[in-house]
Amino acid sequence: MPGIAENLKAVCARIDAAGRKYGRLAGSTGLLAVSKTWPAASVRAAFAAGQRAFGENYVQEAVDKMAELRDLPIEWHFIGPLQSNKTRLVAENFAWVHSVDRLKIAQRLSEQRPEALPSLKLCLQVNVSGETSKSGVAPAELAALAAAVAALPGVELAGLMAIPEPSEDEVLLRSRFRQLVGLRDSLREQLGLPLETLSMGMSDDLELAIAEGSTLVRVGSAIFGTRQKNQ
Ligand SMILES: *Cc1c(COP(=O)(O)O)cnc(C)c1O
Repeated sequence: MPGIAENLKAVCARIDAAGRKYGRLAGSTGLLAVSKTWPAASVRAAFAAGQRAFGENYVQEAVDKMAELRDLPIEWHFIGPLQSNKTRLVAENFAWVHSVDRLKIAQRLSEQRPEALPSLKLCLQVNVSGETSKSGVAPAELAALAAAVAALPGVELAGLMAIPEPSEDEVLLRSRFRQLVGLRDSLREQLGLPLETLSMGMSDDLELAIAEGSTLVRVGSAIFGTRQKNQ
């Protein structure tokens, strides 16, 4: 898998440089390598280069890959849209879910999380782009959802996630990320929970997300290469 180790190094350098530029504490932004559509061999190459946390969007693809990579202590994050008929596989196989945007899904994950495993860490996905996106809870409905999710056993409300609509407008993108931080800050006060995770920033905008306080950037193409269309 030529290139993956070098790409990973370059992404880590971008994260470090942005952290320094925007006055973030060293090491305060983690990297989730988004391996959707890429084979197990690519994940293995990134693991060999030091990466430990991987994000997947499609349940069956992810579970097949996990089977091939059972020998590696990978932390798996589910980041894609989640249908209720797929929650059991996610509850049984992942450490994190970033894309929870309704209570029914969180309840199923809570019920289906095996007792032998640690709590499943959840981020609530927030729709910070208004009507242009269908995924994510509306900001006005976030507090009620967060309170309900925080009360569920077997899962831990860890923070918030957002995917702003793609834009060339850096000011607009930063304002979307800043909105997520503001929502997290008010929830923190309301619920008295740390809500440490702000999952925001991807290959094209990770610097802007770090500027606003991202604690976890989700990076695919900058590590693994350009995906085919519709992937
Ligand atoms: C695909 C994907 C990413 C990574 O996107 P890149 O632009 O390839 O870095 C991040 N987050 C989510 C939710 C994704 O689906």
